[in-house]
Amino acid sequence: MLRKIGVLTSGGDSPGMNAAIRAVTRTAISNGIEVVGIRDGYKGLIEGSFIPFEKRSVSEIMSRGGTILGSARLPEFKEEAVVNKAVDKLKENGIDALVVIGGDGTYRGADSLTKHGVNCIALPGTIDNDIQGTDYTIGFDTALNTIVDCVDKLKDTSSSHHRCSVVEVMGNRCGDLAIYSGISCGAEILITPETGYDEEAVLEKLKYLENQGKNHAIVIVSEKVCDVNDLASKVSKVTGFAGRATILGHIQRGGSPTPNDRVLASRMGCKAVDLLIQGIGGQCVAIRNNEIISMSIEECVNMSRKSKKEFYRLFDKLV
Ligand code: ATP
Repeated sequence: MLRKIGVLTSGGDSPGMNAAIRAVTRTAISNGIEVVGIRDGYKGLIEGSFIPFEKRSVSEIMSRGGTILGSARLPEFKEEAVVNKAVDKLKENGIDALVVIGGDGTYRGADSLTKHGVNCIALPGTIDNDIQGTDYTIGFDTALNTIVDCVDKLKDTSSSHHRCSVVEVMGNRCGDLAIYSGISCGAEILITPETGYDEEAVLEKLKYLENQGKNHAIVIVSEKVCDVNDLASKVSKVTGFAGRATILGHIQRGGSPTPNDRVLASRMGCKAVDLLIQGIGGQCVAIRNNEIISMSIEECVNMSRKSKKEFYRLFDKLV
């Protein structure tokens, strides 16, 4: 019998997490299930930082970025003793099941809780779109909109000044933000974990584009693949463009979620509670071909990443 569930957000925050918290809370309460919000991810869970939620506790949060529950990183959650502490806290407080919203690390924590007997559902809350098995994660669309808005503005000024803007976007280990924004903004070059980095080839391509009469260029780079400041100064030295680096940074995590993210988060939050009501745990919620589905968390964290080859081919055709 499901009487009380907990909901938490963990890892890096993403726009739309609040819409997911709201959907979980309202779906549960309308089914007669109590809800507690857990502050600051797994850290708040082991500390017992619980807030009893009512329907109105989640009013007016839909349009807010970030997460009203706060988020934190707790590397020790990999340790057996720490997970046992979390299990004890849930038991002490009569919490029968848990919904966690976060990225890959959060999923691994949920997998560990599942293996310790906790009914757990995970929702993909991360701007990077790096969770396997789902077409989109909550927050990706909003972050993409932010990037496109910024790159469009950079493009206006770079074409007035014969510049090459080298723009670093987020997406550690996953180039989706880069490829989607690259196509959307008509960028000239992409450097992502999927393409790898060949400095000489990048500089040669810029020289070629310049010879073709281009008066500006945009290079989109996924974080940690290369040093954008270093690349921009080489562009200035070796090509006729003035290279300028821009690191978009945490601005990509903020802002009011797009309607697409709000709807996705609402659908996923509702699905999480439906699964728990059916007595199903150890699953993560995903969207595939616009259908909300679920799959095993363990299977999800062990899946290898599929490269978006079709998107890269399209990008190449359009330059
Ligand atoms: P983002 O994609 O935005 O970085 P994330 O959920 O991947 O989000 P992490 O910091 O990797 O962010 O993970 C969040 C938390 O999940 C960690 O602080 C830790 O408490 C827990 N966690 C991460 N990896 C594991 C693991 N292998 N086993 C158990 N718990 C884990």
